[in-house]
Amino acid sequence: MSAGPVLAVRRASMVYPGGAKALDDVSLAVAPGELLGIVGPSGSGKSTLLNIMGTLDRPTSGTVEIGGQDVAALSDRRLSALRGRRLGFVFQQFHLTDGLTAAENVATGLLYAGVPRGKRRPLAMEALDRVGLARRAKHLPQQLSGGERQRVAIARALVNQPLLVLADEPTGALDTANGMAVLDLLTTLNHGGTTIAVITHDRDIAAQLPRRVELRDGRLVSDTHTDAHTDARSDARTESWS
Ligand code: ADP
Repeated sequence: MSAGPVLAVRRASMVYPGGAKALDDVSLAVAPGELLGIVGPSGSGKSTLLNIMGTLDRPTSGTVEIGGQDVAALSDRRLSALRGRRLGFVFQQFHLTDGLTAAENVATGLLYAGVPRGKRRPLAMEALDRVGLARRAKHLPQQLSGGERQRVAIARALVNQPLLVLADEPTGALDTANGMAVLDLLTTLNHGGTTIAVITHDRDIAAQLPRRVELRDGRLVSDTHTDAHTDARSDARTESWS
């Protein structure tokens, strides 16, 4: 595998029809093995950037490369295939399917990856095990707590061994304790080699991530790395993001 970035956004801008510039000349490279936060106040462009990184939206100008491949050149069909194979998504509201068990929900992460049916269940069980929920494999989402649901959603994002997991406010629907547990899980998975980008407007969460990319009014205003040996909490910014 190439040692280049798993994802590179170059000089991306986004102008929504009839709107102002939601993203203004943003460049960002994510190296294999990183855990980074995309942070900033509401309306600063985080979701817009995440949608572009996830190839769910195409920027008005600028380029996006996933695993060295410029996605602008791909048809919608090939783009969704690349998304299914290379990226994993985690959402604030989990987005699990109600009638499916935890294991079946995780296995849906393999539907677009061409994995034969017989291999889906063992891979789903393995991913559930990685998030500590193997014992809950047969539970339906409504039989799980919010924190457990998010762990199932994380297992679904991981099951296909993506190049990059994109998590949009993954702790936003959880109380503080469950939010911290999800953050700890993402950190553990990252230590195991998973590359993860987390959107958050929560300063406490952001302060614990080893790299933080901060947006303001659609512009990238800072990109900071915390030394692994220093206490991230002491590096927390004092400004408040609402
Ligand atoms: P954040 O995720 O940081 O809250 P967003 O990326 O959602 O920020 O929004 C950035 C800016 O773009 C905001 O001013 C928002 O109102 C605007 N915006 C976001 N999505 C759309 C859209 N689909 N159409 C028009 N304007 C949008």
